[in-house]
Amino acid sequence: MIDNDFLNEYGDILYQIERPSRYIGDEFGSYDKDFNKADGRFLFAFPDKYEIGISNFGHKIIYDLINKKENLMCDRIYAPDKDFINLLSEKKLSLYALESKRKPIEFDIVGFALQYEMCYTTVLKMLEMSNIPVLNEERTEKHPIILAGGPCVSNPAPMSKFIDIFIIGDGEEVNIEVLEKYISLKGKMPRAEIIKELAKIEGVYAPSVKNKVTKRIAQLTLENHPTNSPIPHFTSVHDRAIVELRRGCGRLCRFCQASHINLPIRERKKEDIVKLAKEYVKNTGYDEYSLLSLSSNDHSQIEEILGELNCHYRGSGINVSLPSQRADRFSLEIANLAAGEKKATVTIAPEAGTQRMRDIINKNLSQEQIINATISCVKNGWNKIKYYFVIGLPFETYEDLKGIPELIEGVNLACRENGLKYPQITCSISVFVPKPHTPFQWARQNTIEEVQAKIKYLRDLKDKIKNVKFNFHNPKMSQLEAFYSRGDEKISDFIYELYKNDSYLESWDENLDLELYSTIAQKLNLDIEQIASKEFEENENLPWEIVNYGVNKIWLWNEYQKAKSAIATIPCEVKCNNCGVCSNLKTKKVIAK
Ligand code: SF4
Repeated sequence: MIDNDFLNEYGDILYQIERPSRYIGDEFGSYDKDFNKADGRFLFAFPDKYEIGISNFGHKIIYDLINKKENLMCDRIYAPDKDFINLLSEKKLSLYALESKRKPIEFDIVGFALQYEMCYTTVLKMLEMSNIPVLNEERTEKHPIILAGGPCVSNPAPMSKFIDIFIIGDGEEVNIEVLEKYISLKGKMPRAEIIKELAKIEGVYAPSVKNKVTKRIAQLTLENHPTNSPIPHFTSVHDRAIVELRRGCGRLCRFCQASHINLPIRERKKEDIVKLAKEYVKNTGYDEYSLLSLSSNDHSQIEEILGELNCHYRGSGINVSLPSQRADRFSLEIANLAAGEKKATVTIAPEAGTQRMRDIINKNLSQEQIINATISCVKNGWNKIKYYFVIGLPFETYEDLKGIPELIEGVNLACRENGLKYPQITCSISVFVPKPHTPFQWARQNTIEEVQAKIKYLRDLKDKIKNVKFNFHNPKMSQLEAFYSRGDEKISDFIYELYKNDSYLESWDENLDLELYSTIAQKLNLDIEQIASKEFEENENLPWEIVNYGVNKIWLWNEYQKAKSAIATIPCEVKCNNCGVCSNLKTKKVIAK
């Protein structure tokens, strides 16, 4: 709510900054609960700009579930852009929560979403700008509990000096349990003791306790899915209703962290998905809804779901979007339903250019399937194709790299044979990052020199093909991602130094100061490349082993060995591979059909 006290304090500077609508709250669909009437107050903090954070589906879930509880409230805060943060610093003003306009220090819990490693220094700056000590050991009784969740907590070590408790796994139930337990203990025991008590909740890890932690798993129900969410005052990155089709992916691509840490697969039933989509669209007025999943067309009822929703919305101008499609499950019917009238770009992820390399990474995708899916699209009116590839993968050779342009030539040949015009092809090529809790967690990352040589090799080959464009992800950024995601607690000191040198919103290229990284690495005697390119031994203690995602370490190692021999593993949807998740976590996969 915007009241006079708030305007007296902040009104003046809101007129001096770009896009003040990022900072005023009161969006259509926001809860705006009474701060004074709530027993427990949770502040959801997103360490990136408003237009990125407001689209994040995880935060919509937590925000909705906490606010549905009568005695609790959840407010939101996003990282202000540099112009606003500079003015706040100049006037010595704190950050404030978007809806209640209360200072973060007044909340019981401030929960950060760690979606990517390059947001770490932004978390620290947001704490400083909230007058909350950045180091967890310096916090006192008057400070809220600082919590973090999201994919990056799969290795809590780098942020262990700053965060009080980490939430491992699905956050649907555990965030509420933490808040309720906290308010029942607040004032009855010292803060440090409360943190110890919170660490007893399943799925909670506290660096001060160093407890072994097992991830939490939520079942996907109608009740724990939002059907409304705050609609931004201006266009955000994904401005649409979202329905989560399924969580987890049984394809088990060996480089993919999301696949391994979100097991087992849990699919929502068709009836629930259709109901949620209709309610979400009705409540928000969006003219587009997205069916979210790591691989949307792997849902066992996808055709029926799309058929029913398409029939319901026919002629209404309301369209569906599917964020990801697999070439081996590619269906023209699905592609047509998803594209509506637009037929803009079709995205396919071969990930690697040769069959050998796709078997190494367990992609379970043949050259024929990729080419057939592409030709189907071209025949049916799509003339822009986007492919995703990864380079620098374990056991990769230059022959495998050559497979990327050869695959494009194969597509062009098939077009000629079918009398089709060549499509415009864009290849988005990223650099492999060895991620914790995957079969490739032991593998080394290529050095910058190695990656640059591979990029040059591919660029030279590409020049011979006219209808293709290669976009390479910044190799230095991938190296930093590897450095952060597989580092140990020493990385905390590095993050702290970066923050003290004004690093902020580093996921935005214009804010990334690579020279500063080298200077700090030298000062702390840390070798970024050595950490990113280290190959771990089989029985070496890995910095992230305190966190248990249920997959057996021996299973991951065996998968790594199978990769060496290019032996693929059958997807979990087809056959259980005994990865350990279901027995260790006493759970099972849920397939709707
Ligand atoms: S134990 Fe089997 S069914 Fe369960 S997640 Fe692992 S592979 Fe899938």
